[in-house]
Amino acid sequence: MPIRWRLRSRGIIVPITCPMCNNDVEHMLHLFFDCNFAADCWAHANIMQDMTEVEAAPSWLLDKLATASVEELEKISMVLWGIWNWRNRKVWDNKSVTGAFAMDESFKTLTTWREARKIVKSTVPVSQRTEECSKWRPPEQGGFKINVDASVMPGVNSFSIGMVLRGHDGVFVAGKTSRFSVADSVFEAESIGVREALKEVNYLEVGEVIDSCCNMLNKLRYASVCFVRKSANRVAHSLARYPCLVHCHVCFSSPPDCVVEAIMYDASP
Ligand SMILES: [Zn+2]
Repeated sequence: MPIRWRLRSRGIIVPITCPMCNNDVEHMLHLFFDCNFAADCWAHANIMQDMTEVEAAPSWLLDKLATASVEELEKISMVLWGIWNWRNRKVWDNKSVTGAFAMDESFKTLTTWREARKIVKSTVPVSQRTEECSKWRPPEQGGFKINVDASVMPGVNSFSIGMVLRGHDGVFVAGKTSRFSVADSVFEAESIGVREALKEVNYLEVGEVIDSCCNMLNKLRYASVCFVRKSANRVAHSLARYPCLVHCHVCFSSPPDCVVEAIMYDASP
């Protein structure tokens, strides 16, 4: 943290005294535990009864990190954050508050944060949480996965499809890109992409695009289709942009240069 003692020790010319009390050098132990303002904050937070002396603060804190409940750690974090926040308000805005006021603000923020987390937990279904689908996920052990994407360029009378087949270890098995003439919508282009991928699985072609997808899915009990974000589908996305002519297919037995980095990224832990 850019406290004054540390800035000075790195040759930066700043005052070295604590901006809250002007009584001591501003080092970590002073600012967060020894300063009158800090002591005032801890007293109002009412969570430090078991600390005997200021010098023991670092070991007290380490002990809390190992043993305290989540609720207690949240409170401790908010006390430290409040001290640092109001120290900065003093330095940059010359604003001073009491420890009681600082802690009221800290715990109001903590309550708001806890309420917000409750809402997220109770209203958003697991499948919609973005962090769970922002990276490519391998299929089950021994399985294979096809990723497919369509690339529709505005003003261009054709669209491309890219697809990639990989094993559970993320290793590239095969890839393909195809260019088709006109699609009415991105949805249609992507549906055609799904159909083409299913054709690769079963070499079947029947009926209209969606119907044929459904038919194939019904027949292919081991195949399933789901939506993933572009960030979890980077290899297929790159293949969809691979240059090729309308109604031309390019098959790959090893990954082309444009997807090597994305394959390695997907396969990384
Ligand atoms: Zn001080």
